[in-house]
Amino acid sequence: MKEACGVFGVYAPGQPVARLTFDGIYALQHRGQESAGMAVSDGETITVVKDMGLVATVFDERTLSALQGHLAIGHTRYSTHGSSDWRNAQPAYRAVGRAGFALGHNGNLTETDTLAERAGMLPGVATSDSDVVAGLLAAAYPGTASDPADGELAGVIQAVVPELAGAFSFVLMDATHLYGVRDPHGFRPLCLGRLGEAGRPAGWVLASESPALDVIGAAFVRELSPGELVVIGPSGVRSVQLFAEDQVDDRLCIFEFVYFARPDTRLHGIEVHGARRRMGELLARQAPVDADMVMAVPESGVPAAEGYAKESAIPYGQGLVKNRYIGRTFIDPDHQARERAVRRKLNPLRDNIEGKRLVVVDDSIVRSTTIRTVVAMLREAGAAEVHLRVSSPPFAWPCFYGIDTPTRAELLAASMTVPEMTAYLGADSLAFLTLDNLKAAIGAGGVGFCDACLTGEYPVSVPLADDRLRAPGDRPGVLQGALPGV
Ligand code: 5GP
Ligand code: SF4
Ligand code: MG
Repeated sequence: MKEACGVFGVYAPGQPVARLTFDGIYALQHRGQESAGMAVSDGETITVVKDMGLVATVFDERTLSALQGHLAIGHTRYSTHGSSDWRNAQPAYRAVGRAGFALGHNGNLTETDTLAERAGMLPGVATSDSDVVAGLLAAAYPGTASDPADGELAGVIQAVVPELAGAFSFVLMDATHLYGVRDPHGFRPLCLGRLGEAGRPAGWVLASESPALDVIGAAFVRELSPGELVVIGPSGVRSVQLFAEDQVDDRLCIFEFVYFARPDTRLHGIEVHGARRRMGELLARQAPVDADMVMAVPESGVPAAEGYAKESAIPYGQGLVKNRYIGRTFIDPDHQARERAVRRKLNPLRDNIEGKRLVVVDDSIVRSTTIRTVVAMLREAGAAEVHLRVSSPPFAWPCFYGIDTPTRAELLAASMTVPEMTAYLGADSLAFLTLDNLKAAIGAGGVGFCDACLTGEYPVSVPLADDRLRAPGDRPGVLQGALPGV
């Protein structure tokens, strides 16, 4: 039950918004390729269309023209293996109150079972976190809205959301209003945009990442604050802080900067692409090496490789061609299938590689399938030396906040030292960017981040008995050493 997804919402009185929503979630396709969906309201009735597959597969002219209304939310769902199920497609919809409500979720709750029980769901019945939250919200209806003009759901959200733990950026709607919510740590991004002119807005937009605003011609207004609820409707935008001051602790996922977000996204006012280039520059200063060419593992390693090349003054070149019709290879079930998938996706440019001493830059090593296969392919193509440079620190702890990572036992950095990894990967050298340099490269002075997958310091407590935390050699339920910071 893990969901790292893309969420989008738009409220534009007098305008049909289904096509805007299509464009918005299309821009967020990288955050989830398993399923796509949207809910549209004409002020009275909410219609939901969702299905397995990519945005452009789920929606066509015919489905879009049937979706009438000026208010919508949209969602792209991340593929997590073992749970590819239509029931998990979002938005989740509940018929309750005047016309019900719809919900889209990016994140992962940490106490889903307790919450499901509270929502009156039998154990094992809820298929996803979003299902549980929809259940809790439905159970809190009706009549809790302090002011019906705010939309019925505002009061319900204010009653339910402060009870949730974990990572969540929600977009919600009832028949008349759009709502956005961020958890008090702000693990997952969510921003507010405006359609029309500053003084006379024609509408409001919510999106996981700012490029979803750009593509529909909306202007970026601001990021939602951790713990904030925004209510958008006929009387404009209203903001409520749902959490007490001591519960709010800004911890945006640092991996959004490393890998997850689009390069053209701005987070904390910083463009992600520039941050990735600076990661490469600092990596070159931190771990220099004599070589003939700097190359990237495409696509994710490209900006950091450019930064490494610039700082080291070693020429940048292309060593691998990526089949652009293949998506992500991360989640395939078994090792051999993942390795085949990497070979299907990446192929070496022999003439660029043969006899050369290469610096090979990627953004991260998780299970190590990608980089290990790449090293083997480069050797087969005649590389003289392969020096691996990774633009993030060793990934040694599983994520519980919305990114689907393998168990500790499968994470390379959980069981090997850097020299052991170098030998295992078949590289001539290997270096990881330090956490201090990663933060310096981002350059969001004074802002807190979640870095639990790199440090084991989890900002929100995680289930210690969870199998995902077991390192190789740990017995069931017994952790190797103590978790730092828990
Ligand atoms: P590995 O092959 O070591 O298991 O994973 C590392 C590779 O997968 C890197 O090339 C990185 O760009 C990519 N990657 C890292 N984190 C994620 C993730 O959360 N999802 C997906 N789809 N890919 C990831
Ligand atoms: Fe992001 Fe890692 Fe924290 Fe998960 S554990 S939210 S991937 S920084
Ligand atoms: Mg990659």
